[in-house]
Amino acid sequence: MKIGVVGGGAAGFFSAIHAAYAGHKVKLFEKSPKLLSKVLISGGGRCNLTHGTFFLNELLKGYPRGSGFLKKVFHHFSTSDTMAWFESRGVLLKTETDLRVFPQSDDSKTIVNLLLDQASKYGVEVMTRKEIREIIPVDGYFLLKGDEIEEKMDRLIICTGGNNKKEPYSFLEKLGHTIINPIPSLFTFNTPDTGLKLLKGISVPSGKIRFEGSKLSYSGPILITHWGISGPAVLKLSAFGADWLHGKQYQAAVLIKWDESFSEPGLKNALNDFKKRHPKKNIRKNALFSLPARLWQYLTLKADIEEHLNWDDISKKKINKLIENLFNFSLIISGKTTFKEEFVTAGGVDLREIDANTMESKLIPGLFFAGEVIDVDGITGGFNFQAAWSTGFLAGKSSTK
Ligand SMILES: Cc1cc2nc3c(=O)[nH]c(=O)nc-3n(C[C@H](O)[C@H](O)[C@H](O)COP(=O)(O)OP(=O)(O)OC[C@H]3O[C@@H](n4cnc5c(N)ncnc54)[C@H](O)[C@@H]3O)c2cc1C
Repeated sequence: MKIGVVGGGAAGFFSAIHAAYAGHKVKLFEKSPKLLSKVLISGGGRCNLTHGTFFLNELLKGYPRGSGFLKKVFHHFSTSDTMAWFESRGVLLKTETDLRVFPQSDDSKTIVNLLLDQASKYGVEVMTRKEIREIIPVDGYFLLKGDEIEEKMDRLIICTGGNNKKEPYSFLEKLGHTIINPIPSLFTFNTPDTGLKLLKGISVPSGKIRFEGSKLSYSGPILITHWGISGPAVLKLSAFGADWLHGKQYQAAVLIKWDESFSEPGLKNALNDFKKRHPKKNIRKNALFSLPARLWQYLTLKADIEEHLNWDDISKKKINKLIENLFNFSLIISGKTTFKEEFVTAGGVDLREIDANTMESKLIPGLFFAGEVIDVDGITGGFNFQAAWSTGFLAGKSSTK
């Protein structure tokens, strides 16, 4: 059989390699001059290739969209298979404390080189500068048309990645597939609050953040940047709230608890107790609850607590405002910024039109999908590559049957 793979990223190479293992003739078409370009720049040049959890339920929590679909896919190829695949081919891996998995070399070229080597070893014919623009299913085969190409393929695997515009998906829509509106996911929030931005570099280790008007809330480190807020809790909220925030055109308010253990009555008791025990202490100058001093000063300023004020002199109204700022701080967000250039697309080929046990189109037999082109995306931490390896493995293998 002749198997065509469209797209030379992580999913394209993994599909092509697994199709070629079965001894079929595999041809990979990449539109750009470069292969595996995202793998190369991923993880700050280190490639965070998977997430080091072996518990399916834990793994699935990393996917804002498509977790039900991936549950089936991961039965065929999961995180332990990814690690074993790379390690058994000589790439030693390490798992960091936050469970991100990297090559021990700390160099994404190690991953790129292995994928290129395997493709070459099993005879995958790789063609760059070949954009596929049209696919015509003809009786029992596919006619591929694009840059100086007109090729017949018996099976076809689409691995063209994500894109926040709909146009790059139009050749798939022409085949009859539905495209779920592609929008950005994984980003940080901009704020017009200049006072907060002056605190750039300050972080809290275990905050909690939610959108005002939505039930979504996420815990974890929150980092103040020179454009707004970032950190794992913010990125998670951006991913799980991607649709919601897109609908609001990235104009919303977030509510921040600077420590997720804070409760309104707990803070009230603690502050009243402190007031009784240290009436002569200056409020602004003595940060409480292990908060960074400059953040505490900012929150007291926002509660209209003057610089000279001691605990003895504070009014009930100002204490209540301070509690509000610690427990439910309202921050206007206006726009988004990419996180370390890492971003993914939410949306893509509708999962209802793909068989999760084979990655084959339910509309067109012989057509397969893998990677970010489908309506699956993960949070940061290695989840996106895991989805690319798993769907790529399954599409590659199934295409040979
Ligand atoms: C800067 C950055 C860092 C990242 N870091 C990580 C990380 O550390 N860990 C992680 O898990 N995820 C990370 N991600 C996400 C991850 O890179 C992607 O989810 C993953 O690369 C998706 O793989 P893919 O093969 O589906 O798509 P892609 O890697 O986007 O590959 C698709 C390929 O198809 C080609 N193509 C598109 N259309 C056509 C066409 N019509 N004809 C021919 N070729 C075509 C494209 O040129 C591209 O090369 C990162 C993303 C970015 C942007």
